[in-house]
Amino acid sequence: MIVILEPNANTSSEEYQQLMQHLSQLPSIEYRVHNVAGAQQTLTEIYLIGETAALDKDSIEALPLVERVIRISEEYRVLGRHADSSRSTSFEYNGIEFSQDNLNIFAGLCAVDNREHVEIMMKALKENGQQCTRMGAYKPRTNPYSFQGHGAKCLPYVFELAGKYDIKIVAMEITHEAHLDEINAALEQTGHPTGVMVQIGTRNTQNFELLKVVGRQQNFPVLLKRGFGITLEESLNAAEYLASEGNTKIVFGLRGMKSNAGDPHRNMVDFAHIPVVKRLTRMPVCIDPSHSAGTRAASSDGILDIFHVTAQGVIAGANMVLVDFHPKPETALVDGAQALLLEELPYFLEDINIAREAYEKRVLANRQFTANKEKPVWQ
Ligand code: PEP
Ligand code: MN
Repeated sequence: MIVILEPNANTSSEEYQQLMQHLSQLPSIEYRVHNVAGAQQTLTEIYLIGETAALDKDSIEALPLVERVIRISEEYRVLGRHADSSRSTSFEYNGIEFSQDNLNIFAGLCAVDNREHVEIMMKALKENGQQCTRMGAYKPRTNPYSFQGHGAKCLPYVFELAGKYDIKIVAMEITHEAHLDEINAALEQTGHPTGVMVQIGTRNTQNFELLKVVGRQQNFPVLLKRGFGITLEESLNAAEYLASEGNTKIVFGLRGMKSNAGDPHRNMVDFAHIPVVKRLTRMPVCIDPSHSAGTRAASSDGILDIFHVTAQGVIAGANMVLVDFHPKPETALVDGAQALLLEELPYFLEDINIAREAYEKRVLANRQFTANKEKPVWQ
């Protein structure tokens, strides 16, 4: 059961004390308080856990400061929708909004190799009106002898250059909780010129101890990639681990499934799950066309498979695109074969706009259809 308090409820007020006093006396019930800070207001939600079936919804709704009460199903307690469409499906971080209704592009280097390439990439992003990027510093690699990323060493110049080119958020994977301290230290050292979205990669989707630590910190939002060999439900539960620890600024990432059925793509593209995640949870959904298609091959129409799968995701309502670019892919230390070229950036953004416009028209067509079933929009 979730008890939603009136917006901006004062948690040091007498009424709040009375409410908490009442809740703490409920038999076999524990509670957790979550504060959700939005752009306009702070919402306090109290999660009641335990034998809630015996609780009377109306009498809890009558308690001081309580706006309403939602009975929740067992699944995805914090992130789930629970047949209630009025709870938030968005969050804001460093001036950028993440929502189930909008779209953010994170183009950048799969792995930071040197300062020069980071600068060329960020300059191109600024010239193309972009405020977000991806910059891998910690790379989990299949082969222990492969390049593992420059780690903490590259963070100061990555953050400084992000500031120089007005990049508001850098997405980067972490593979260990110590990386959070390194990122915090580098941001502190450089004077916080940018923000960071912490990425949990597909190899760590079920690293529960890492999820708990990342969920307990509130500094950074999280991009959680789905596990490449587990069910969607298992991956959504991994997201719930983050949320249950207090961090609900989560974007859920689709990146394909490991299966020979996807050959010759690197992974079996799974973007058909975009509407499923949006229906089951309140998380914005990211697609990673680079790690799912994983090749620069093109179709007979001349369009790269990466462009095609991106368009498929965007036309289905994706809210974020995480995509590999590189100024000189032949020299890239990781995943050069799937990197898009800088000269393709404006064209890639235009192709995304075409797909996004088509998605928006589809939403409108659906609204008209459901508003007036007698007169379908196509007649
Ligand atoms: C990445 O985004 O760099 C990456 C390694 O992705 P994934 O965890 O989806 O393989
Ligand atoms: Mn990669």
